[in-house]
Amino acid sequence: MNTLTASQVHTPTFDIAIIGAGLAGSLCAHLLSQSGQSVCIIDKSRGSGGRASSKRLDGDISCDLGTPYVVAKHPDTLALFAQLMEEHIVAPWKQLSNMGSQAFVGVPKMSAITRHWIQNAKFITSTRIHHLDQISQQGDDQSSWLLRDDKYQPVVIAKKIIVAAPAPQAASILASHDNLAVLLLRANQASASYLSQWAMWLETEQCDLNALIEPKNSLIKRMIKDNYKPMRHNEKVDRWVIQTEPNWTKQNLDSDKEWISQTLLQAFAEITEHRVLKHGEPHRWFLSRFTENKGNKCFVWSPEHNVGLAGDWLCQGDAEGALLSALSLVNHMKDSE
Ligand SMILES: Cc1cc2nc3c(=O)[nH]c(=O)nc-3n(C[C@H](O)[C@H](O)[C@H](O)COP(=O)(O)OP(=O)(O)OC[C@H]3O[C@@H](n4cnc5c(N)ncnc54)[C@H](O)[C@@H]3O)c2cc1C
Repeated sequence: MNTLTASQVHTPTFDIAIIGAGLAGSLCAHLLSQSGQSVCIIDKSRGSGGRASSKRLDGDISCDLGTPYVVAKHPDTLALFAQLMEEHIVAPWKQLSNMGSQAFVGVPKMSAITRHWIQNAKFITSTRIHHLDQISQQGDDQSSWLLRDDKYQPVVIAKKIIVAAPAPQAASILASHDNLAVLLLRANQASASYLSQWAMWLETEQCDLNALIEPKNSLIKRMIKDNYKPMRHNEKVDRWVIQTEPNWTKQNLDSDKEWISQTLLQAFAEITEHRVLKHGEPHRWFLSRFTENKGNKCFVWSPEHNVGLAGDWLCQGDAEGALLSALSLVNHMKDSE
């Protein structure tokens, strides 16, 4: 274990540092800062949301390029969304809900959910955590973690860490410290079970097609009318987000973006017979969906190291699972204090 050097003395210190401001990390930040602990949340992107983030287009218009909604079935997530509804952070998308489950969207965009949850934590953006060091601070008998970025610069010091990144990204962080081999093994085992998808937004004239279309035998898996979601801007166009079929994506993961874009536009036109007025660049989600669901314990906590793991890959492999994973991890941490 290293002792803190003079240059690291000024590194900001928190009770808990969370790596990843997606649904899982942001919910952990919310629950832990509510219990009075100082929390810092770090993300490699410019904003929060991860795979539930939104892309800003013109002015204050944006669209959701990742998960279009969160389907809640579990009583704990339904309670979480009931609270968010009271605070006007989410709204139910009634057309997509059915007897056993409800679909929710962030308002006015998906990233409103994670933004709301991280407001009482220190949020550090555009910073990729790459390395973990265990250190001892003067006058403190418990060791702390020093988190370093990809240039090996110190970012923060914290007593406890939660890694809330997808399994392959979690694995590369955990691999930086010898004592985290058990957690690393868990993340490594999960790393092969991801699908990739391309997503792209486009605009057509307003039309009466359904808000959610899942074409058969197409390279397009799903087409969602983003402006049909509740509490969106009332506009003169329809804005769609199209997501590609995972097998087709696998074969075209490295293809040229211009070719992907033209191929998607052609497929869209064939399905809808509508003219595209405007479109964005295709976005490649390398790790879009986690496919394995073995029903294991839905978080990992190592009490000897004060390091935890949360995320969709530990629970259900979907957006609701990310939330359930965060809820169970934080409950466990609180119970074991
Ligand atoms: C196109 C698409 C469609 C989807 N459709 C659905 C759907 O219909 N229904 C559904 O339930 N789910 C869907 N999902 C999946 C859903 O979005 C995810 O299950 C959920 O958002 C995962 O949340 P998370 O917090 O576990 O992970 P993430 O959202 O991936 O958050 C992890 C965060 O960690 C950050 N990070 C990673 N490594 C580092 C690092 N080293 N340093 C700092 N930050 C780091 C990332 O930038 C990211 O913000 C979809 C996803 C995509 C992409």
